[in-house]
Amino acid sequence: MSLLHELYQEIIIDHSASPRNEGHLVPMTHFAEAYNATCGDELTLSLQVVDDRIKDVKFHAQGCSISKASGSMMTEKIKNMTIGEASEFSQKLQTILSSDHLNLLSEEAMGDLVALLGVKQFPMRIKCATLAWHALDHALINSLRSIS
Ligand code: ZN
Repeated sequence: MSLLHELYQEIIIDHSASPRNEGHLVPMTHFAEAYNATCGDELTLSLQVVDDRIKDVKFHAQGCSISKASGSMMTEKIKNMTIGEASEFSQKLQTILSSDHLNLLSEEAMGDLVALLGVKQFPMRIKCATLAWHALDHALINSLRSIS
């Protein structure tokens, strides 16, 4: 069985071929970039946070289909979450992807993100799946307002 078949290939291919919320936000309030040296994936993330809520989000990824699909699915999932909700979801998802604690999030809460669970069988690719979420963690503590 191929890697992509294991990874619920239809969902992954759909998101990587047609990424949702692709690009750069102007203006933005939060920004981060992340790099996965193992696979060569690069990803930037920009957020527009208003009153503690993520009103808009865009990402741009260069790399493998898993990193792109994870970024695309992430933007759909976190839009309209509060910073606290997005941060908590990110921690839970990363724990699920890198450990055996599968019950932290329901399948309903994960939505399309369940497609990433197949990556657990390919430890080298877990960083591809978590890259966008690392970027989110950095972005959430990286408010541009504190600079200006
Ligand atoms: Zn990758």
